[in-house]
Amino acid sequence: MSPAPTSPSDLPIRADLRGQTPYGAPQIDVAVRLNTNENPHPPTTGTVRDIADSVAAVATTLNRYPDREAWALRADLADYLGHGLGPEQVWAANGSNEILQQVLQVFGGPGRSAMGFEPSYSMHRLIALGTGTRWSSSPRGEEFAIDLADARTAVARERPDVVFVCSPNNPTATSTGPDLIAALYDATPGVLVVDEAYQEFATGPSALELLPGRPRLIVTRTMSKAFALAGARVGYLAADAAVVDVLHLVRLPYHLSTVTQAVAQAALRHRDELLASCGDVMDQRDRIVDRLRELGLPVCGSDANFVLFGGLEDQAAVWAALVERGVLVRDVGLPGWLRVTAGTAAEVDRFLVAVEEVLG
Ligand code: PMP
Repeated sequence: MSPAPTSPSDLPIRADLRGQTPYGAPQIDVAVRLNTNENPHPPTTGTVRDIADSVAAVATTLNRYPDREAWALRADLADYLGHGLGPEQVWAANGSNEILQQVLQVFGGPGRSAMGFEPSYSMHRLIALGTGTRWSSSPRGEEFAIDLADARTAVARERPDVVFVCSPNNPTATSTGPDLIAALYDATPGVLVVDEAYQEFATGPSALELLPGRPRLIVTRTMSKAFALAGARVGYLAADAAVVDVLHLVRLPYHLSTVTQAVAQAALRHRDELLASCGDVMDQRDRIVDRLRELGLPVCGSDANFVLFGGLEDQAAVWAALVERGVLVRDVGLPGWLRVTAGTAAEVDRFLVAVEEVLG
């Protein structure tokens, strides 16, 4: 007789992980996938060719470990970011989620705490959980903006070791300006992480301009969105060189494969053509905002490649009805609201037709 299946609750896991739910954006096979804020445009033909050639070139070296420091890639990323940054101020990893995890491993952890302004990117809370960091959340105010007075009160109360500001914020798509970020930095005893995964789609300035003289400020970025490289898993941060130094304490040796480094460098060589796709995406985003507003729905103004729209009596039912019509959007757990990624013009056509059908 085969043994009864083991349930997770039978296993001797950490008490703080019991009953928790993992990250789980549905990966459903539908025609129009607008649920994970990917770039709908594949990398350009020239980029694909360069990636293939670059991977072929490094394949002959795969018997050796990668450059543990990823110096060449970090130099290219620093060059892309500008703001006078050098490679010693830039650090790269397998997606910005890994960057965030390394930051929490160093600055958070048992006995320490992190704070975010919610609704925001759910992985901030989940990575805090995974690293044994206590999480506290402060609600956003009017139109999902961070209210500085409320934020100061929350920071004074919790004294967090790590504060997250996602700008543009996932899922609301709204940005937080440099003045507020600078004020929050002054109010924060620990490190302030500005998650700029979507900054290339924003019109306002980046928090990168605030880095000089602020050694506790960390700006994270990703190649998953604007660079159309979600499958390659490349994220990075810019900060004081001392921050990059201490991250070495927790990074796994050779964490970023030779192949990943080569792919990212190839994509950076083609950044002009890759970033050109952001213009299309922003046009489609604006089209979604305009049309949903015409339909009378409350819609957050968007600085990102997605749109949060509300006014839905039962957002879970609308989500399911859209899936039935072959369109996958994201239920982020905000009652009455759904988030949709700006896709190609044809995908947005299908989304808008489906929304109109569902909402009658
Ligand atoms: N930050 C934000 C705000 C995100 O929305 C995402 C992905 N959805 C990430 C970070 C992580 O992206 P990646 O690990 O692909 O770089």
